[in-house]
Parts: sequence; C-alpha cells; structure tokens
Amino acid sequence: MKQLNLSLPNWVDSFLNKQASIIPEPEDQMRFVLALTERNIREETGGPFGSAVFEIESGRLVSVGVNVVVQQNCSAAHAEMMALMLAQKELGHFDLGAAHLPAHRLVTSGKMCTMCLGNVCWSGVKEVFSSAEPEDVESIAGFDEGPTPPDYNAQLENRGINIVPEMLRHEGKAVLQLYVDLGGLVYNPTRKK
Ligand SMILES: [Zn+2]
Repeated sequence: MKQLNLSLPNWVDSFLNKQASIIPEPEDQMRFVLALTERNIREETGGPFGSAVFEIESGRLVSVGVNVVVQQNCSAAHAEMMALMLAQKELGHFDLGAAHLPAHRLVTSGKMCTMCLGNVCWSGVKEVFSSAEPEDVESIAGFDEGPTPPDYNAQLENRGINIVPEMLRHEGKAVLQLYVDLGGLVYNPTRKK
C-alpha cells in the first residue's frame, strides 16, 4: 500500500446541506460543531468529537471533521485532524496561515489531545475555540487525552495562536454525556502498565 484515503461519514453531506455556509458569530460556530458532533454520536459513526475550520473574518465554513477512528481504522482520525487535513486539501496548501490565504480558526467540541495540539501548531490556524476541557473528556467519556503540557494555552499563544477555551462548555459536556448514555464505544481506554 502506498496511498492513504480517509473519509467522513456519508451523512455529512446532508447535514451540511441544511446548514449555512457562512456563520459569523463564534458561539453559533460552536453550536454548529456541537450539532455535528451529536449527529456523529446518533449515527454511531465514531467518537463524540467534532470540529470545523472557518475563515476568521468572514465566518465562511471551509471544512468539517468528526472522529472516525474506528470506522476508518486509523488512530489519527480525530475530528480536529480530519477538519485540518480537509481544509488544507480544499485550499491546496499545507499552511492555513499562508500569506495568500485569509486567517483561519479551528472550532472543536473538545480541547485538543496531545496529537491534535501538535497538528494545530503546524496547521497554520490563527485561532482555536474549544468547548469541553480535557478533564471533561476523561471524566465523562473516559478517553485518554495524552500528555498535554501544563502550560497548554501558553504554548499556543507563544506560537501566535489565540485560544478561547470553555466556549459553551456546559453544552460540550452534555454531548459527551449523550455518548455515554447511548452506550458509545470508548476505544483505547487509558492503558495501565
Ligand atoms: Zn485528538
């Protein structure tokens, strides 16, 4: 094998057809992402995580992502990774902060895990909005967020990436709880030695 092919679930097309393609208000962008996440849970197509990339100035939606780790047999297929990779593919550039492009923001249902934090740093986004905190993800849903740094927000700010955490956190936690209540699979629960 020498090619990778990752896809979002089929229902994403019909979901997007019913949504505005420009969402100017930050909290409305988060509501959109939480609705996307809830749909992924109810469709049973992946873990309880969703993300989207928007143009900061215009609020234009560039891409979405949901967690498709199990469906796609790929441990890297987190919602943030999918949204960022799809935005880069859509725009034809590995750097979403390239000089010829408008500035971009990642909106995500849960604060990034170790892997996604890394990719956010390399992706070129200028801003991140997140809802649920890592402790919510771990305590409610039981997923491992990995060894994230204690100075998480500062690490992003130092790289010129503005982070606004805990946006609609209560709603973000409710989506995680929904996944648990519906008996969603928690893959790779924190492994003990
Ligand atoms: Zn992640």
